[in-house]
Amino acid sequence: MTSPYSTHEVANQSPPFEDVNLFTSDRALQEAVSREGGGHAVKQLNAFGLTCGSAEAFEQGRLANENPPKLRTHDQKGHRLDVVEYHPAYHACMETSFAQGLHSGVWAHLATPGEAQRPGANVVRAAGFYMAAQMEAGHCCPVTMTNAAVPSLMMAPALASEWLPRILSRSYDLRFAPAESKASAVIGMGMTEKQGGTDVRANTTVAEPVNGGGVGGEYVLTGHKWFLSAPMSDAFLVLAQVPSASGGGGLTCFLLPRFLPDGSVNAIRLQRLKDKLGNRSNASAEVEFVRAHAWAVSEEGRGIAAIMEMVTFTRLDCAVASAGLMRLALANAIHHAEHRSVFQKRLIDQPLMGQVLADLALDVEGAVALSFRLARAFDRSQDPRAAAWARLMTPVTKYYVCKTAAAFSAEAMECLGGNGYVEDGMMARIYREIPVNAIWEGSGNVMALDVLRVLQREPDVAAMVIDELEQSARGDRHLGVAHAKLDAILREPRHLDTRARALVEQLAILAAGVVLRAHGPSFVADAFAATRAGGLSGRTYGQGLDWADTGAILARASPSLDRA
Ligand SMILES: Cc1cc2nc3c(=O)[nH]c(=O)nc-3n(C[C@H](O)[C@H](O)[C@H](O)COP(=O)(O)OP(=O)(O)OC[C@H]3O[C@@H](n4cnc5c(N)ncnc54)[C@H](O)[C@@H]3O)c2cc1C
Repeated sequence: MTSPYSTHEVANQSPPFEDVNLFTSDRALQEAVSREGGGHAVKQLNAFGLTCGSAEAFEQGRLANENPPKLRTHDQKGHRLDVVEYHPAYHACMETSFAQGLHSGVWAHLATPGEAQRPGANVVRAAGFYMAAQMEAGHCCPVTMTNAAVPSLMMAPALASEWLPRILSRSYDLRFAPAESKASAVIGMGMTEKQGGTDVRANTTVAEPVNGGGVGGEYVLTGHKWFLSAPMSDAFLVLAQVPSASGGGGLTCFLLPRFLPDGSVNAIRLQRLKDKLGNRSNASAEVEFVRAHAWAVSEEGRGIAAIMEMVTFTRLDCAVASAGLMRLALANAIHHAEHRSVFQKRLIDQPLMGQVLADLALDVEGAVALSFRLARAFDRSQDPRAAAWARLMTPVTKYYVCKTAAAFSAEAMECLGGNGYVEDGMMARIYREIPVNAIWEGSGNVMALDVLRVLQREPDVAAMVIDELEQSARGDRHLGVAHAKLDAILREPRHLDTRARALVEQLAILAAGVVLRAHGPSFVADAFAATRAGGLSGRTYGQGLDWADTGAILARASPSLDRA
């Protein structure tokens, strides 16, 4: 029966974007997984795509962000608690990602001495992570940190043998309890202090050895961290300065557990939670260490090298998660345009909207191509060419994908008009979430400077990748332009420090163009190369594609919900 208060039928609104299989509806992802070495996992990725794109999972994602974590510093009677309470929806997301092994699956082989890493492990995990980020991005922070902590932790064999079995467990255990009593463990990271995040050498937190120190030895930490995400993690890898009076000294990497071996809570005081633009389901705390106990993961003075092992993996994940969020934004935009009519035509059939959406789709193609090629390089790190790609292209991929994503999300949001800007849908959350991936784990300039570091300190590594790109680009007019620009920058080494961003951008465009040219459909590869490398695109989306087969680009990118 019609309500007496209803004045109209709701019409011409797109149906909700939900119950979509995030794997089978994403052709670029499926192709990337197969070509980069993860084809054997299609069945499980298919199932995970169904889980992450379900209406229930998206609802958990919404709830986890609309009910952000709360800090409880003290109990009612004034005793310190230092705990953060999360909404059950956050824990549900964590449980889903842990069950999929996103927090440690690539290291599963370490449970059996002598076993080799499973082929394609990083590519398969990246595909899962890309979809988990679409379900809910904030919980991906502790998931990535736990996975990335393993190579650093392996530097301290005694600590690794104690913690690894917990890290490898897929049963998420949300309890605030000593790690020994838990089914699994979550690991966080603490580098950034008030006086400097990038410049960790300026860290002031002090670590004093208890019994002589050394790798695996116990220290007492006094100081602070300005950002410490996922503060309910079971342990953190942190950097602190060991005074040189104690022997070696210098910036050292430690494992700092939440509980001490005697079952008491370690002296990690949670001062405040950050009030963040996005990433709201994830707690990021300001903390103080008041003679907190920690165990050395690295030799004294080798802390940066140790934690860089971790950061390399989180940088891959920043790119993968950004690519996933870009895909989600694009899928929402195309879905809306397929169902919304303006001036008697579906939005997607309006020529100018077709240009905008196709241009956005090309950025997703590029982001997926770069991220999954990088994941493959991690899988094949025994091969010198793959190792060179991983070294040079980690900062390039992190820079380009995460930076592209920010402008991308604004345009994708606009495709939904006013509906894009309100919190009922996903677009506003995606827009607020995306910039963080460019900022943390090394901001844009820091990535560009890291690329210069490779050129200066490991010229053979850089040359191996650049030669490979040049050979692959040969014969392609537009990719040839990108290579020529790159070459011109490299020929002027005196000015590299001011041109580092241009260098990184050309490397990214050339690399994405080469992968798409070799493996993508020609309508995608041609359009990507002509606009991104050949200079046809503008500073805003929807330019330079009037000659391209935008219909084919969009048909490929459409998430058409009936594919679920
Ligand atoms: C939501 C959130 C959660 C976080 N969680 C954690 C966490 O769990 N653990 C943790 O350790 N940190 C965490 N961080 C901190 C984050 O990693 C740092 O904010 C980031 O590394 C930048 O450091 P900074 O804030 O000190 O800025 P700065 O280091 O001061 O950098 C400011 C700007 O200067 C640029 N810059 C730096 N050096 C140079 C240079 N030589 N030349 C040119 N430009 C330069 C940078 O690119 C940046 O744009 C988190 C941050 C956020 C936003």
